[in-house]
Amino acid sequence: MNTSEIWQAVLAELELSISKANFITWFKNTGIISFQEGQVLVCVPNAFTKAWLEKKYHQEIVKSLERITTKAIKKLEYKIDNIKNSFEQSPIALENISSPPASEINTSISTTASQPLHPANNNGGFPINSKYSFETFVVGKGTELAYAAAQAVTARPGEAYNPLFIYGGVGLGKTHLIQAVGNALLKKFPEYNIMYVSAEKFSNDFISSIKEGAAKDFQNRYRHIDLLLIDDIQFIAGKDRTQESFFHTFNELHQQNKQVIITSDRPPKSIPALEDRLKSRFEWGMIADVSAPDFETRTAILQKKCAEKNFPLDTKILEVIAVNIQSNIRELEGALNKIIVFHQLKNIIPSIESVKNLLTNVSSISARRSLTPQQLLETVSQFYSVNHEDLVSKNREKKISTPRQVIMYLMREELKMSYPAIGEELGGRDHTTAMHAHEKIVREVECDLKLKQEIELLKQRLYVNNL
Ligand code: ADP
Ligand code: MG
Repeated sequence: MNTSEIWQAVLAELELSISKANFITWFKNTGIISFQEGQVLVCVPNAFTKAWLEKKYHQEIVKSLERITTKAIKKLEYKIDNIKNSFEQSPIALENISSPPASEINTSISTTASQPLHPANNNGGFPINSKYSFETFVVGKGTELAYAAAQAVTARPGEAYNPLFIYGGVGLGKTHLIQAVGNALLKKFPEYNIMYVSAEKFSNDFISSIKEGAAKDFQNRYRHIDLLLIDDIQFIAGKDRTQESFFHTFNELHQQNKQVIITSDRPPKSIPALEDRLKSRFEWGMIADVSAPDFETRTAILQKKCAEKNFPLDTKILEVIAVNIQSNIRELEGALNKIIVFHQLKNIIPSIESVKNLLTNVSSISARRSLTPQQLLETVSQFYSVNHEDLVSKNREKKISTPRQVIMYLMREELKMSYPAIGEELGGRDHTTAMHAHEKIVREVECDLKLKQEIELLKQRLYVNNL
């Protein structure tokens, strides 16, 4: 095993015991810089991650390293370094793990992140993941329409349905489908200029272009493309200037018959604080929903994923997984990954029994997500040492107003609460207050490192307290 394989195995183990959000927060852009005679140096992207790994995950990492290498670890240290500077070759960034050669697939751990990303389209968007293709998508009743629409758009971009708007709950294949269109069109037209971004990135890009006086660059970048894939548009709700900019971008592209594909967690009509003119634009083309897969589809998806990962599992075992994980496909795939990794590392053959055991752990991890507004409020007030009465009062002192705004921000981000409901929780405030507080924090975390770290810590606490 080389150091990069060792670190991948450590990450795969840690992923079993940590929620996805934490895992990504703390282990993104980490890697082993050197490993000699029991002394390990791990690179981390910033001081915050360093402190966190030292404080919270040190023992787990040491144990995992010892298990995987079967050697005693005498010293483990962390160094702040850009992952790219630390490696001459093969950096291990979570989002950047290149796929192993086919001959190694059986022994390597393949997680969702380990797929090749499409290097095309160096236009500032996110890379497209080449594993998100039509071929790897299993069509079920809940996705028939969205799948057919995506294919129609691929056959006649800009003509069939423009825009195509796909909505539905998390982990049901929206991102997969829109990237499948991107991949298929790139295959057909290698010169195609495809931009894939989250609405959040669109918004951030827009804001920083204004700050830097580079609005023209921004326009050029977003308006000279052949296909715009914009993910999770609900994010721009309540962000008026971003909406305005998106409106113009959309019109420009639409006029030139350039295809726009949008995803959202709900239909345009139900996105709060979204301008009417955008809602009506989104309804111009085709609106397709995706809904949760039934048992047969879940089993078929598992079968396909097993084949992709070259790790065949008995149908009986697949059915056990499909019965236990019903919510969405991301969790289904997560559970499958865990099962594969676990059995590979322990070198045991999966049985119904061992899989059932693992699944109990998986479901207790997803229980963390059942956070209530009350718990959130308590966690934040403890964190900032302010009391409940002050939070719901009219007090505008900064030591009270900041925690209050953070609460409103987290209620929106973590609990997806509506602005009126958030206002209500905080002493019957107006929904615009909640909206502004949310926006303010969104803006401030961009430039205020301390606040950003506080929010990371808070999120951490929310998950941990809520175990
Ligand atoms: P969403 O964007 O709706 O939250 P994703 O597209 O990110 O969901 O899907 C989550 C994971 O589940 C991805 O790894 C994706 O490949 C997989 N997935 C979702 N739907 C399907 C499907 N119908 N067939 C195969 N894989 C799927
Ligand atoms: Mg998505």
